[in-house]
Amino acid sequence: MAQRDYYEILGVSKSASADEIKKAYRRAAIESHPDRGGDEAKFKEVNEAYEVLKDPGKRQRYDQFGHAGVGGNPTGGGYDFGSAHNVNFDFGDLGLGDIFNSFFGGGPSAAKTQPGRGRDVETRIEVDFNDAVFGTEVDLNLNLEDVCPHCKGTTAEPGYQLKTCDTCNGSGQVVHVTRTVFGNIQQASICPVCKGSGKVPEKVCTVCHGKGTMPKAQTIKLKIPAGVDDGATIRLREHGEAVAGGKKGDLYVNIRVKPHKKFTREGDLILSDEHIDMVVAAIGGEIDVDTVDGPVRMKIPAGTQSHSDFKLSGHGVPHLRGGSRGAHIVTILVDTPTKLNKQQQELLKEFSEASDNKGKKGFWR
Ligand SMILES: [Zn+2]
Ligand SMILES: [Zn+2]
Repeated sequence: MAQRDYYEILGVSKSASADEIKKAYRRAAIESHPDRGGDEAKFKEVNEAYEVLKDPGKRQRYDQFGHAGVGGNPTGGGYDFGSAHNVNFDFGDLGLGDIFNSFFGGGPSAAKTQPGRGRDVETRIEVDFNDAVFGTEVDLNLNLEDVCPHCKGTTAEPGYQLKTCDTCNGSGQVVHVTRTVFGNIQQASICPVCKGSGKVPEKVCTVCHGKGTMPKAQTIKLKIPAGVDDGATIRLREHGEAVAGGKKGDLYVNIRVKPHKKFTREGDLILSDEHIDMVVAAIGGEIDVDTVDGPVRMKIPAGTQSHSDFKLSGHGVPHLRGGSRGAHIVTILVDTPTKLNKQQQELLKEFSEASDNKGKKGFWR
């Protein structure tokens, strides 16, 4: 595609003064602005012409060498301008700078000092009950946008430099003008070409095509702290998706703790039931209680009632911030025998008769 002469585009002579060029640009930019019904291609052309002619150095090189002297078509390079929102716009020379500042506080340079950030990523893992109690390390296998290995995220083909973005003239921002009954409303947005960095590569990276990132299968080692509970979320800063010229987003890992066949949990307490027979309940004894630390010998005092709770200190869940552990609460369930042989029945009758419980008579009498 042959490029039109820049002076011709702006409708000025080759000897036009800087002021004449500026005025011609403003007129042409307003005329061709897509939001005023203008032709987008024409609008880009106008901006491109002005980009060169407003700069004495570029203008001189253009006069001498033509388009080749100023890098050919500055807005080329495969970028998709898609919609009118992405048009290039030299706001500074349309007197929009102040409005721009009032929208963003920091002004156009704010975009450069606050580069974009990669997307946050959320994932979910399941851990065993005991692993949640004692902590563990898991491998998270994720396919995430990572820094392009070819250009190292610069977006430039190795051996090529970055140059000032022609779309935003290095400001990182473009201004979009909407015409309303109340007048024109200017809205600034991140430059779609340089993504706010103000720089574009001389030659776009041939691997990521200028994105600066590539999807990559990654294994991230995640340390699950001892004491983590179901529903907890761990944030790994800057382990989310990469973005060209900015920090990675964060990775949020939602923890699901698988139910245990025997234990339940309430905060730092572990709860379980243990069955004992009525003889042990009556005369006392010792039983082995299952805990996360293995079996623990526990004393059953004589006269233990069913549904009594006993506390095993130090066998619960460690506190997340280190140090002590909670308790394991054992609920004792006394089993009443359901099948008694003749001898057992006789012994129990004898037992009852020997008892001094006059008011409570058994059904067999
Ligand atoms: Zn690349
Ligand atoms: Zn830009």
